[in-house]
Amino acid sequence: LLDALADMGALAIERVRLVEDLDRAERAAETDRLARALLTSISHDLRTPLASALGAASTLRDLDAALTPEAKAELLATIIEESERLNRFIVNLLDMTRLEAGAVAPNLALQDVAETVDTALRRTQAVLAGHRVAVDVAPDLPTLRLDPVLFEQVLVNLLDNAAKYAPEGSTVTVRARREGRSVCIAVLDEGNGIPEADVERVFDKFYRVHKSDRVRAGTGLGLAISRGFVEAMGGTVGAGNRRDRPGAAFTVTLPVPARTAPREIAA
Ligand code: ADP
Repeated sequence: LLDALADMGALAIERVRLVEDLDRAERAAETDRLARALLTSISHDLRTPLASALGAASTLRDLDAALTPEAKAELLATIIEESERLNRFIVNLLDMTRLEAGAVAPNLALQDVAETVDTALRRTQAVLAGHRVAVDVAPDLPTLRLDPVLFEQVLVNLLDNAAKYAPEGSTVTVRARREGRSVCIAVLDEGNGIPEADVERVFDKFYRVHKSDRVRAGTGLGLAISRGFVEAMGGTVGAGNRRDRPGAAFTVTLPVPARTAPREIAA
């Protein structure tokens, strides 16, 4: 009986090994596939704006004398716009790399939520120029322990998206409320919202619902970076659709600091 049990044991171990080997091979193949997809996506995102800028610059050089001042201005605008797009993509890639390497160390300090929201709104004034902006920050919110640079960047990303994905003239709302032991900051817009099937994935790296949309083309990194920044500060992010009307709702939830030592109270 003992021998039979030992044999069965050996067989079971062998089976587990086989399954593990298969798992490992599958995982390696999946990693390989992901790396390839990533490279294709990155080269596409780098080459598309570069090709447009190069095309515009060549036209300027070759047809200089034949071009009207308006045509020249348009070509220059293209060069600048596409270079900015390229720059944004590279900055995003670097942020993402830093996050994945665990190299983002938040500089946490007690901050006033209303103030940080104001700064983010000031920074996005130009992109939000065609939208109405409503600020609904509860008075008497507790100060939060956050890195103002990272937090502002998250808000700027969400506001940029609201401006990009909701029609001009519509209202973008920034709301901040206390919810128990947390403060929830929400950016709400009046666009088409996010298809139910994509809600779970919008924070994934390089994920885009509007893949072939050149006008609203982005890097697909803004939300992934935002989630990384918020999690580095001990918070969580959420994406969904508004219940009261069409539009997307993005939330950042941060814990209220447990106890505030007197010397930590923000000036
Ligand atoms: P992108 O640079 O493409 O905007 P993000 O990571 O910021 O990348 O967003 C990922 C995707 O989530 C976007 O491509 C878009 O499809 C969707 N998305 C983000 N914000 C909104 C919004 N406010 N309304 C509708 N869809 C949105």
